[in-house]
Amino acid sequence: MSSLFPALTDASAADRPALRFGERSLTYGELAAAAGAVAAGLGAARRVAVWATPAPETAVAVTAALAAGVPVVPLNPRSGEKELAHILADSAPDLVLTAPDVDLPPPLREVPRLDVGPGGGAPGGLPEERAGDEDPALIVYTSGTTGPPKGAVLPRRAVAATLDALADAWRWTGDDVLVHGLPLFHVHGLVLGTLGPLRRGGSVRHLGRFTTEGVARELNGGATMLFGVPTMYHRIAEALPGSPELVEALAGARLLVSGSAALPVHDHERIAAATGRRVVERYGMTETLMNTSVRADGEARPGTVGVPLPGVRLRLVEEDGAPVAAHDGETVGEIQVRGPNLFTEYLNRPDATAAAFTADGWFRTGDMAVRDPDGSVRIVGRKATDLIKSGGYKIGAGEIENALLEHPGVREAAVTGEPDADLGERIVAWVVPADPQSPPVTEELAEHVARRLAPHKRPRVVHHLDALPRNDMGKIMKRALRHG
Ligand code: ATP
Ligand code: MG
Repeated sequence: MSSLFPALTDASAADRPALRFGERSLTYGELAAAAGAVAAGLGAARRVAVWATPAPETAVAVTAALAAGVPVVPLNPRSGEKELAHILADSAPDLVLTAPDVDLPPPLREVPRLDVGPGGGAPGGLPEERAGDEDPALIVYTSGTTGPPKGAVLPRRAVAATLDALADAWRWTGDDVLVHGLPLFHVHGLVLGTLGPLRRGGSVRHLGRFTTEGVARELNGGATMLFGVPTMYHRIAEALPGSPELVEALAGARLLVSGSAALPVHDHERIAAATGRRVVERYGMTETLMNTSVRADGEARPGTVGVPLPGVRLRLVEEDGAPVAAHDGETVGEIQVRGPNLFTEYLNRPDATAAAFTADGWFRTGDMAVRDPDGSVRIVGRKATDLIKSGGYKIGAGEIENALLEHPGVREAAVTGEPDADLGERIVAWVVPADPQSPPVTEELAEHVARRLAPHKRPRVVHHLDALPRNDMGKIMKRALRHG
């Protein structure tokens, strides 16, 4: 087994910066020493949970466990007790690793606790990594957007493969300094945003809480890359007109990356117009880590998530099982993938694992897409919630959402389908108005969409909301919309 984090055991890297969270920073030497101390305290633990606050202790705990070959279950410190109880019962960790000042909620008080110091330990105390490539590194619970979260078992091989493929696509090196303001309990913030810089021997500056001021400060202060979710880029797009510092920061960044959900075209274009920079979109899942990305030297067209990453095989499959061969930008199919980036199974869910793979071994993502003539993937939406069958057409919710967001009276929008005796399903728009005093009415929005797209894509019903239901990653929870 080759090491996941060579810089942690490389004496010549000991003085390089590894992490900074607010005022607290660690070099590679300090991180290795702190992680070594934690690794020594793991004893005979076979699996550990990590209370994944956005703090250096989380990075120390995860690197320690990975170095010791003990799989990690990252926990969302904002999850409710019911969700925590579900994850604990399912994953049965022997220990929970946490920063010392944390008061853990009741379900976790049953689990033996190991406090993680931010520093200390003996230099060079990190054990030689002992685990094999196929051994589990992480058990990450899915976001629960479409059902109760499932624990995806990710082998070390998948973590290494995805980070190395991204390094190739993004020209990501040890000289890069990443700015990140994402939570640390999911793939985006933990694997890409924390383990990614550490595997490259570069560094990460975590904002604690995302602010556009923090992004401007860090990018103007030597950081080279920004990873964010679409809600962050939306806030950036809104703030750009009033902030020359933010314009300068984005214009000077080496790479701006968005993922976890579709980046609205309107936000992509506003950022490009104000800064001259195009946000690069990548597409991945808990189960597959990263599948596609626009490459650093590629063309970041709004609405595309780029091409399959090195090592990833990707195909589109129609409902009858026929592969979509055409790169015509029109024929919709489900994205199926294979590659070294894939998980091995859902923990304790052989049924769900079996259902997730085709007979010939491809993982069914549940996401629908088309391919453009240059091979770029454009995601239409999720099969379960974003594909509306109305009047004999298959309509993707995303393009209607994008059209609605271009209406000046619309701040946020989500589109769903609802049973309709006549049409099969009718298109329903859920809109957060820019001005709650004068929300745009149904006829106006229907006409706006019909003019931009096509008459059969117009919403038949418009609901006004104060805010859309979103999870901790900023993803719209369409289940909550439909069920009231
Ligand atoms: P659950 O599987 O529990 O319902 P989830 O699918 O939201 O939740 P994640 O694994 O965190 O959990 O999210 C993966 C999904 O996020 C993908 O299947 C896809 O639908 C969406 N996604 C990720 N990146 C992008 C992107 N760039 N554009 C559009 N959708 C994206
Ligand atoms: Mg999913």
